[in-house]
Amino acid sequence: MALTVILRAIGAMILILTPDIDIAGDDYRRLMDHLSHLPNIKTRIHQEIGTQQTLTEVYLVGDTAALAVAAMEQLPGVDRVVRVSEEYRILGRHRDDKRATYFDYNGVRFGQDNLHVFAGLCAVNSPEHVEAMMKALKDNGQVCTRMGAYKPRTSPYSFQGYGKACLPYVFELAGKYGIRVIAMEVTHEAHVAEIHEALEQTGHPTGVMLQIGTRNTQNFELLKSVGRQREFPVLFKRGFGITLEESLNAAEYLASEGNRKVVFGLRGMKTNMGDPHRNFVDFAHVPVVKRLTRMPVCIDPSHSVGSRESDPDGILDVFHVTAQGVIAGANMILVDFHPDPSHALVDGPQALLLEELPLFLEDVRIAREAYEKRLALINLL
Ligand code: PEP
Ligand code: MN
Repeated sequence: MALTVILRAIGAMILILTPDIDIAGDDYRRLMDHLSHLPNIKTRIHQEIGTQQTLTEVYLVGDTAALAVAAMEQLPGVDRVVRVSEEYRILGRHRDDKRATYFDYNGVRFGQDNLHVFAGLCAVNSPEHVEAMMKALKDNGQVCTRMGAYKPRTSPYSFQGYGKACLPYVFELAGKYGIRVIAMEVTHEAHVAEIHEALEQTGHPTGVMLQIGTRNTQNFELLKSVGRQREFPVLFKRGFGITLEESLNAAEYLASEGNRKVVFGLRGMKTNMGDPHRNFVDFAHVPVVKRLTRMPVCIDPSHSVGSRESDPDGILDVFHVTAQGVIAGANMILVDFHPDPSHALVDGPQALLLEELPLFLEDVRIAREAYEKRLALINLL
């Protein structure tokens, strides 16, 4: 079925409660009592605890067609009522809902209205390289990075990442240089427990955003277990050989299990049509994902392009596609850097050099400013 047809299918209803409603209070109790008497309706509560306010939503599933929006809006504690499609009903953008949505993690705000750069190592290879990277980030005012400890590789004979052995020094060095969030791929639920333990042992010097890689986009059991934990937000990468709709449904597994702190990552599609790039760059989908869902959208120019090729003027393809994604409104950039790419254990050929970090950040700033000017222009109308 075409995506638009699916999105038109009406199924669930969401009651958006008044901000900061007291769930021990009278309004909430009367509302829940009323809902419990509706025939063939099940309820599920979702709470988003932010720094500024707590948002509570009640999802009604079942025979919602029989319920009138206007009547539901009169119930105690209800601010607004929206009907949503069955598809990605938690992460999806509700019809006519233009509210800014975001989440906070370890002091960093992730939303569809801002932008963070996660420059770092594709794979951790030594404390010295991790430290050089972290220092460069701090010197350039950055508080986020990427650090691969668990690497899913095409060949079983390739380096698989240092795994839990490298976590303590990665976290300690992150703390030393003021890094607040590290994007780190996990391929098994045991990795989440290892990350949790290493953070405990080192006294939580930093935070981790769990990355679901493109090879695991439809690993539903992994998604369910990562969705059940609420400690860490998730960077969910689009599947490289499936439709956007399939990837969005897969992301919904995380939210349906309880974790709505999800960023959606575009990283290029596997097809020879994109040659000579490693993957066919799909950043034209930045606004599409923002329209269909409430997730912040990440772009990964390194894994999309896969090389350090440049145009005749010397601008690298990685810089070009980054600017294209940012000017289209991307909210996060995951990008490979390395202090010594020729000795990188994974993906050296696509890594940017530490000396290029200030240039990269300035190029991003220019593209973001252009996006903001475009936004201001459209808002004039
Ligand atoms: C990565 O970010 O290191 C990675 C392996 O990405 P992807 O899952 O998009 O290939
Ligand atoms: Mn890589």
